[in-house]
Amino acid sequence: LVVLGIETSCDDTAASIVRGNGEILSQVISSQAELLSRYGGVAPKRAEEAHLQVIDQVVQQTLDSANMTGKNLSAVAVTIGPGLSLCLRVGVKKARRVAGLFNLPIIGIHHMEAHALVARLIEKDLQFPFLALLISGGHNLLILARSLGHYVQLGTTIDDAIGEAYDKTARWLGLDIGKGGGPALEELAREGDADSVKFSIPMRQHKDCNFSYAGLKTQVRMAIESRNICIDKSPIFSANSLDRRSRADIAASFQRVAVVHLEDRCERSIEWAMKIEPSIKCLVVSGGVASNQYVRNRLNHLVVKNGLRLVCPPPSLCTDNGMGCGVMVAWTGIEHFLVGRYDFPPPVNDPEDYMYDLRPRWPLGEEYSQGRSEAR
Ligand code: ATP
Ligand code: FE
Repeated sequence: LVVLGIETSCDDTAASIVRGNGEILSQVISSQAELLSRYGGVAPKRAEEAHLQVIDQVVQQTLDSANMTGKNLSAVAVTIGPGLSLCLRVGVKKARRVAGLFNLPIIGIHHMEAHALVARLIEKDLQFPFLALLISGGHNLLILARSLGHYVQLGTTIDDAIGEAYDKTARWLGLDIGKGGGPALEELAREGDADSVKFSIPMRQHKDCNFSYAGLKTQVRMAIESRNICIDKSPIFSANSLDRRSRADIAASFQRVAVVHLEDRCERSIEWAMKIEPSIKCLVVSGGVASNQYVRNRLNHLVVKNGLRLVCPPPSLCTDNGMGCGVMVAWTGIEHFLVGRYDFPPPVNDPEDYMYDLRPRWPLGEEYSQGRSEAR
């Protein structure tokens, strides 16, 4: 079994070929990071153009470096949501073309499910059911994965995701965010005193598993303003800013509170999950923020204290701009293929007819209704 995975849900064009046993045969990514830093965010139309420019090349390179042609493939897996529909459809159109040419089945993939299931590629003995904390720039999810395709959403963010809070804080602190706000902030925070600035921990009075990072963001902004650091990319920033030590203190204090909030919710979700599936043994942590070493250490401590094991994919398989971004899609395709979940889409008569089952907004699993009544 050999599956080609294609991912274009946001700003990176990625593809990979993975064998049924989890062997990664090739992985290629074309990143738009430079384009994004020029325009200061993801502009859907520009992102679509960038995907269109490179998609054929990325897939061809993926085949070439695995020494394969389409004839060697068993199926094509492609992210169909959630994400920007203009971007998603570039990948879906390509997947349909390859599948049509070689008469292969297509497997439509949920991007966040792929973030969670890639943990089963690196830990072959990771069995369902397990808990998953998926933390990135756009998502903050606590999921109980009961079995393949059967997920219960224990919590989500009511405003921003933690990665967004890292990115904004990094930007406000004037960090060089070329490598991304999160890594830059993590680095600076190592130099700071995490107890020096008193930020309040979000949602302590809410007895649910949801997250909120908008309030913490505001507190950080106020702390910076009150210390007279210029917000954003002001040209006078460096002249008028606080010294590195003060900024490191803010970074460390922000990070501590951001992660205490994760710990609070994880601990409660373990309690809830144990009621539904007493046999869970693992908490999977994935998504871009899961590459943060401080986050990993703190969550590992919490998970072990609660008698579970932490499974955290390596950073290259956690982030969307890592090499493994296509790998997680191919692997999730393999998981579904093995239980017979795939499609042969109707032949494409009209070359523009590529709106095959796109799901730009697509919740992962059903909400935990009992949790709602337990929550205040
Ligand atoms: P999605 O929400 O659709 O998965 P995304 O675009 O946020 O997509 P990811 O690569 O999963 O993509 O996550 C990126 C986020 O992870 C960014 O907000 C980034 O700052 C954050 N991040 C990456 N590395 C670190 C780190 N070391 N510490 C903290 N945050 C990090
Ligand atoms: Fe992602």
